[in-house]
Amino acid sequence: MAHLVMVSIPAPGHVNPSLEVLRRLVERGHRVTYVNDASFRDVVESTGARLAPYVSVLPRANHAGADGPPEEAFDGDAVDHLAAFQDEYEAMLPVVREVFAADRPDLLLHDIAGVPGRLLADARGVPTLQLSPTYVAWEGYEDDLGAFWDGVRADPRGAAYLARQQAMLAEHGVTTDALAYLGRPSRCVVLVPEVMQPHADRVDRATYTFTGPALRRPVPGAWTPPTGRRVLLVSLGTAFTAHPDFYRRCLEAYGGRPGWHLVLQVGRHVDPAVLTDGRPVPEDVEIVPWVPQLEVLEHADAFVTHAGMGGSSEGLATATPMVAVPQDVDQFDNADALVAAGVAVRLDSATATVADLRRALTQVTSPAVAARSRALAAELAAAGGADAAVAVVESMVAPLSPGAPRSPGAPRS
Ligand code: UDP
Repeated sequence: MAHLVMVSIPAPGHVNPSLEVLRRLVERGHRVTYVNDASFRDVVESTGARLAPYVSVLPRANHAGADGPPEEAFDGDAVDHLAAFQDEYEAMLPVVREVFAADRPDLLLHDIAGVPGRLLADARGVPTLQLSPTYVAWEGYEDDLGAFWDGVRADPRGAAYLARQQAMLAEHGVTTDALAYLGRPSRCVVLVPEVMQPHADRVDRATYTFTGPALRRPVPGAWTPPTGRRVLLVSLGTAFTAHPDFYRRCLEAYGGRPGWHLVLQVGRHVDPAVLTDGRPVPEDVEIVPWVPQLEVLEHADAFVTHAGMGGSSEGLATATPMVAVPQDVDQFDNADALVAAGVAVRLDSATATVADLRRALTQVTSPAVAARSRALAAELAAAGGADAAVAVVESMVAPLSPGAPRSPGAPRS
């Protein structure tokens, strides 16, 4: 069995998508050491991996608890953001070095922010595999970002950041351009559905393998659907949940609809009583701070989602048509990708009226959208998810000993 070292940062979006891959690797007898901040100890150890802690120096907005990022924005600009990541790499390096010295890995697994892991591995001849929680670079990506990097170079703080980064790379024997090195992993498993990837036709398949999301196994009985009713889930994920006005409109649009059961996830900051003006919650409506989302989606007929990568993936994997109400960052692109894939309608949650919400539900529950959702779910199932990711990992380490359980995606001899 192999010793695998994973390197990432303490941010749910960088940790959660690959947890199931690590859990299954441990289950199959591999030893996994995970370099991350101690605030993620429970999450890391829940997979059976051993934590090798470093002290994160990321600003609070990035350095969040495992159950979701805080609802505060990082107030620096893009250069501050990049420099904060460089600080983090420098804080992480000594621990990665110790891990390599004490117990040399057979394979280095890394997040895009696990740069020190890849540097040490390359310097010591250890193979590397990136586990990507989001979409990846396509041919021409660097040109598409050219203007952005020109702006960074023109800013004295940006130039200083780039010089620090290049020096860190040089110290580890990397003499190629830092951006080319950092933007291009040697090998990568992409843990998002291929339909969420921009310019998928221009992604190099020799480097990047789309396994789709490595979803955890649903917990049986975690959520029981009502009998004889269609289910609608409204969930804006973990970080963008403070939207009482939107929930109120959802309640009006979807609560009490004949034949429907509404599950309205409102997060920890919205009091359900505010939404109902103190009246009892109707029988066919659940208003909850948190849902077992994957388990609800397994039974859902439609999903109003902020189109985070997690929720979008879960909606696609469970063949649930979506009404996408993006709030921030990548969610706008995700929402457009879902619409382009033919499984969603996009609305602006700030301005969508009750009538808009109702119309969108009618649109996404059409037989055509349902059929398209099922077809894409079948494609995702074929991509293999966590099992396929495990197979890629195992193809890069020594062959399994005879009698070891075979991963479903592994070639048969
Ligand atoms: N989630 C959940 N229950 C909730 C809200 C969220 O289980 O009530 C999970 C959801 O299944 C998904 C993750 O939290 O796996 C949220 O990830 P996503 O990328 O959709 O959104 P974010 O919270 O990062 O904006």
